[in-house]
Amino acid sequence: MGQRPNFSQKGSRHLYDLVIVGAGVWGSSAALSALRQGAKSVLLLEADIGAAQRTSAKSGGIVTDLIWHPHDRQLVARSRLLFQEAAEGAGDAHLWQAAGMLTLGGPRQAALFSARRAELSERSIAVALMDRTGLQHQFPALDRLADDTIALYTPQDWHVNPTAYAVQAVSAARRLGLEVRMATPVRRLEVLADSVTVHLADQDPVSAARVLVCAGTWSRQLLRTAGVDIALRPYRTQLSSVRFGRPHDLPIVWHLDTDLYLVPEGGQDMLAGDGTESVESDPESFRQAGDADFLASVAERIVDLTSRGDGAGIRTAWAGLCGATPDRRPLLGRLAPHLYCACGDQGIGVMRGPALGELAAAVALEHTEVPELDPLRFAAADFPIRGGFTLEA
Ligand SMILES: Cc1cc2nc3c(=O)[nH]c(=O)nc-3n(C[C@H](O)[C@H](O)[C@H](O)COP(=O)(O)OP(=O)(O)OC[C@H]3O[C@@H](n4cnc5c(N)ncnc54)[C@H](O)[C@@H]3O)c2cc1C
Repeated sequence: MGQRPNFSQKGSRHLYDLVIVGAGVWGSSAALSALRQGAKSVLLLEADIGAAQRTSAKSGGIVTDLIWHPHDRQLVARSRLLFQEAAEGAGDAHLWQAAGMLTLGGPRQAALFSARRAELSERSIAVALMDRTGLQHQFPALDRLADDTIALYTPQDWHVNPTAYAVQAVSAARRLGLEVRMATPVRRLEVLADSVTVHLADQDPVSAARVLVCAGTWSRQLLRTAGVDIALRPYRTQLSSVRFGRPHDLPIVWHLDTDLYLVPEGGQDMLAGDGTESVESDPESFRQAGDADFLASVAERIVDLTSRGDGAGIRTAWAGLCGATPDRRPLLGRLAPHLYCACGDQGIGVMRGPALGELAAAVALEHTEVPELDPLRFAAADFPIRGGFTLEA
């Protein structure tokens, strides 16, 4: 047990109600929600120079109802409201856009597509099941599809700007009294009997009645400094920005068989990415540039779908890390007295991020409990890494 702080003495460290580590989408939302939920003194600490500059900034920004877990679908629905609220608050009409998403499959997915169409219709979410003829009619740019292609079209799916969301959440929270320190990495967490001491690089430590770690794929290594280990395995995933030879009017496209996804970026560019590396990567040393074989295979998969991709050029490519958990659900809740975490995004953490931040704040302030997300429900052992952006459980 470390030395306990004496809060009553003049000059002693300030005791915050809540310290949040990490200003990605999750932590920024948690900060705003904590203030809205009545926390009085909240400090947000971020290692980078601004909100959502790391993994959140590398994201494709897809928001879809077509994800596998029913609870995640509720989180997407709540996040949509929070994205809309942020767009209104920022006066930023581009923070979210209804780009629509076309999920391409074949005969193997027919039963799954029918079931998902029924489920979406029941929730009054617009959806259409299409065959190749319908696809050619509505999306003529997809002129190289296999004859037996079928698709689910979800016109209300979005593309969002995660950084714009986080910046707006932090600025709304500042107006409610949030204290923010950017460029302030947390080095170590020390759990005491009645508080947590947060040790910072080059600054005096701060003390908090509660600490909520929203440090994305860095969460495990930070929590280890407090003697806590969680079942989180960071894995790498890549994205590129592609300039098409000709303008296109494509929606978001997700091709299940090749795992390729495309996100429109203006009239001539597309973000193009694919799935999951099934090996663990180190958040401190992973390769942040795109790999040559990734770029070659993305280009091939694009021209297999559309002649608009002929002559397309890759403008830039990058890799980021996502956090896998054994059941592909977040690790969100209490780890020790006064210490909480929210991580385990499974590559679908933007679309659920605002709602998960809100939930994490409620759990850290002890307004609610979510036993099924208990961060200690697994031993922190090796487990297979599997991406979260899937239609099937
Ligand atoms: C290529 C790619 C494409 C993706 N596409 C999508 C998509 O289309 N849709 C979707 O929903 N999701 C997508 N994701 C996943 C999504 O980006 C993440 O789920 C989401 O950004 C997680 O947000 P976060 O706030 O948990 O983490 P982060 O954005 O990683 O935020 C954590 C923050 O904690 C800070 N931090 C870490 N350690 C410390 C420390 N010791 N002290 C202080 N601060 C610290 C970091 O600097 C960082 O800013 C994609 C991810 C990648 C890599």
